[in-house]
Amino acid sequence: MLNENCVFCKIIRGEIPSTKVYEDDKMVVFKDLEPKAKVHLLAVPKDHFKLLSELNEERAEVLAYMLGKIPRIAADNGCTNGYRLIINQGDDAGQTVFHLHIHILGGENLPM
Ligand code: 5GP
Ligand code: ZN
Repeated sequence: MLNENCVFCKIIRGEIPSTKVYEDDKMVVFKDLEPKAKVHLLAVPKDHFKLLSELNEERAEVLAYMLGKIPRIAADNGCTNGYRLIINQGDDAGQTVFHLHIHILGGENLPM
């Protein structure tokens, strides 16, 4: 299910331009608009849900699927010496887009 007003759903639908580096029937990966590292990608499930805390069995399967794809996608996009995955959950983590996404950060030595 896509959400009308969600910026990532709009990216998935192609209504907002983005630089997609990977797409299949379950997920899309595109470059973050304001990269916080040399490589900064966002991996997003095509099915809209807001928060990690809204995970159910079906969504957990998609998340596991995404985690299985990410090592290859990261390596293909310049993260050849490691990378960091981040999921921001809610306000205290600074989540700004409420469509679950995994940040993929790398391409350089990352500060803690
Ligand atoms: P959050 O803080 O919610 O975990 O991360 C949201 C991320 O989405 C931020 O890093 C922000 O730069 C990125 N972002 C927000 N709007 C857009 C957009 O329209 N296009 C792209 N490519 N990235 C976006
Ligand atoms: Zn969405």
